[in-house]
Amino acid sequence: MIRVTAVHPGSVADELGLREGTELLSVNGRELDDFLDWEFLTAEEQILLHVRQPDGEEIEFDIERPLGEPLGVALEPPRIRRCANRCDFCFVDGLPDGLRDVLYIRDDDYRLSFRYGNFATLTNLKSRDVQRIIDYRLSPLYVSVHATDPSIRRYLLRNPTAPDIVAQLREFAAHGIEFHTQIVMSPGVNDGLVLRETLDTLYRFGPAILDCAVVPVGLTEFSKHHLVREPTAEECRAAIALVEEQADIARRERGTSWALGADELYLRAGVELPPAEIYGDFEQVENGVGSIRWLQQRIGRLDSGSLGWRGQRVGVVTGTAMAQLMPQVLELLAGVTGAVFDLIPVVNSLFGPSVTTAGLLPGAAILEAVRSRRDLDLVLLPSESLNDNELFIDSMSLTQLQTSSPVEARPSKDFADVIAESVEV
Ligand code: SF4
Repeated sequence: MIRVTAVHPGSVADELGLREGTELLSVNGRELDDFLDWEFLTAEEQILLHVRQPDGEEIEFDIERPLGEPLGVALEPPRIRRCANRCDFCFVDGLPDGLRDVLYIRDDDYRLSFRYGNFATLTNLKSRDVQRIIDYRLSPLYVSVHATDPSIRRYLLRNPTAPDIVAQLREFAAHGIEFHTQIVMSPGVNDGLVLRETLDTLYRFGPAILDCAVVPVGLTEFSKHHLVREPTAEECRAAIALVEEQADIARRERGTSWALGADELYLRAGVELPPAEIYGDFEQVENGVGSIRWLQQRIGRLDSGSLGWRGQRVGVVTGTAMAQLMPQVLELLAGVTGAVFDLIPVVNSLFGPSVTTAGLLPGAAILEAVRSRRDLDLVLLPSESLNDNELFIDSMSLTQLQTSSPVEARPSKDFADVIAESVEV
């Protein structure tokens, strides 16, 4: 059963009388568990829908509609699948106490991997899940491989029963499922020869593995530092050498880079980022792979002729990691818009200064950094530091921050979004 949370006015669901609280029980006699069942089973032109209305009345609707026309319901979010692992570098272990309960959930959910590109390990799949992935063709999936050697992977995941990932990928690939993969590199465990072996095994696997990103392990001051550490600059340079060696082979043989290093890997290594071309379609940009080149590309394509930013002073809030790479983006942006940009790197007051990513910046630290900036006309905030409900990780809301900020503050993913909004206005 799935509960309806909203019905779009004028939609098929609205005409049928579905409303908030309606329980969707089955489609064509098949019970519904989650949004995947709903989407795949209602994809037919004609369906038999069985519902229970909030007053308890059960109704069956025989629905015929043009193919592709949505029924028009919003569904309650699925119950998240819990993770079966206990990685030493787990983000959840690195959280301070006192945050929202939901942040302490270790999720590892193939459904969210398919829908949102969240990385999953596939270690908690039941046979029914395997069948659903195949039947519903959930492709591509985003998979955390870390190491193809089963014993090293089990060690990294702290899961002695983790199945052999290569065998799992092989089974899915035989049914047409493709994968974006990542290796979170933990020095002394899956770097060096293990990294080389993992990259090689995944590459030789064939075209079902679309790419493989190497991301250095990131810790906070609350992480298990007695068990895991962040890589040194030298270790990052060694990893980049392996990634680029594999990418050279891939470009010669397949015309794509295939192996990619996260921006953070280059940053920690003190090595210049590769050019935009090597990232292809930027498929792992949400994973911090190619973010800077992607931003530059987006800005380079902007036509901001009608934007009234010329001569304005715009503050750009970011984490201390991006702050090192951002000047090359802002220089380009200044040329396109005629505005003056002030970078505002914010130190993470909640997780400690070692956490440098913009995505984990608490609202309180951002507010502190902009509170006295009356010299600015506008402040751009990193949108990745907000969740879907516009809350920062410390539960400050965007509205709270905007109300307390001395100048207009707007979230932005890539600058182009704010510029587009401004042009529309
Ligand atoms: S797979 Fe590892 S890092 Fe991810 S949630 Fe589970 S324990 Fe944490």
